[in-house]
Amino acid sequence: MGATVDLNFNYYMPTRILFGCGKLQELGTTPFLPGKKALIVIGASGAMRKHGYLDKVIGYLKDNGAEAAVYDRIQPNPLVEHVEEAAQVAKKNRCDFVLGLGGGSTIDSAKSIAVMAVNPGKYWDYINGGSGGGQTPANGALPIVAIPTTAGTGTEADPWTVITKTDTNEKIGWGNAFTFPKLSIVDPELMVSVPPDQTAYTGMDAFFHSVESYLATCHQPTSDHLALEAVSLITKYLPIAVQDGGNLEARTWLAWANTEAGICESLSCCISHHSMEHAVSACFPTVPHGAGLTMLSVAYFSYLAERNPARFPDLARAMGERTEGLSEKEQALAFLTGLKKLIRNAGLERHTLSDFGIQRTDLRRLAENAFHTMGKLFALTPVKLTPDDATAIYERAYA
Ligand SMILES: [Zn+2]
Repeated sequence: MGATVDLNFNYYMPTRILFGCGKLQELGTTPFLPGKKALIVIGASGAMRKHGYLDKVIGYLKDNGAEAAVYDRIQPNPLVEHVEEAAQVAKKNRCDFVLGLGGGSTIDSAKSIAVMAVNPGKYWDYINGGSGGGQTPANGALPIVAIPTTAGTGTEADPWTVITKTDTNEKIGWGNAFTFPKLSIVDPELMVSVPPDQTAYTGMDAFFHSVESYLATCHQPTSDHLALEAVSLITKYLPIAVQDGGNLEARTWLAWANTEAGICESLSCCISHHSMEHAVSACFPTVPHGAGLTMLSVAYFSYLAERNPARFPDLARAMGERTEGLSEKEQALAFLTGLKKLIRNAGLERHTLSDFGIQRTDLRRLAENAFHTMGKLFALTPVKLTPDDATAIYERAYA
């Protein structure tokens, strides 16, 4: 008899994904459209109209026998009030599915709107964490279709939706089996219009989803494979896409890396790096999520690598760093070398927390917010962190 193997996991990934350049067209013919009347959810910036994506989506839906209403008020850090308002629009128009078109904020909103279109009460009644009511939505959600136009959150391949409640400074991720999209169309051609800064922020977000899913104590074989591949692809192609947004090869590999990272978030999970960033952008909403993660990352991951270097050497090698002949600790630190290079190559070295108005005296409050709202992710982090540790990490990142 051989030794027992510690291999024990669940696998559930129910989203149908259509991937590739030009795939948006298939919205017009796919037999998997989950309804006849869509609520299309887009951001308030006007980009989806300006680039002609909204008209295309409405046209393809029509070809496929579906009508559409449009809700266009979603903000970059999406808000509870817009989720609840859009759910009323969905009800009034008798929509039978919700289609998110745009970046992570609009697709996350589409998921939350799909829940509130069929369930009573307030959105926050259902949130687990912070001041949320922790109720289970009895009626599930309307079916969700996701069409991402950025390579960032991976939300097209996971059940998570992150919404902010401004009066209490809470930004909490939440989801369930009903908030997986039924259908996601990932068309890299829609991503060539993303400006360099946003390409960098969203690409780094996908990078950290992969890294964190690899380190999380709930990691499993499929998430491990996908996470390491996504880390390699983002290291190689993100700097190219930031330099040359029209490079379809780079956009395509980044789109896939982002979807892989989303699958990792479904099969494994993010860790407390995300809790700590959510606290930052909940209290300082002008901080883009990917920028917040990047500003915290060197301090956060070096704190972890110093205390538990296991699994960091694989990440270093995935980034193309040399590890032969090095001790485990040195190999772990090679990941930090790779991370700093990537941040520089993505053009994000210049940002600091104080640029966004954050004071040193805010740091303790941010640590407490991270534990209060997203404390669950600390339990999946491979090093036990207390609010004192989190404060120390913010201090290092601030220095
Ligand atoms: Zn994220």
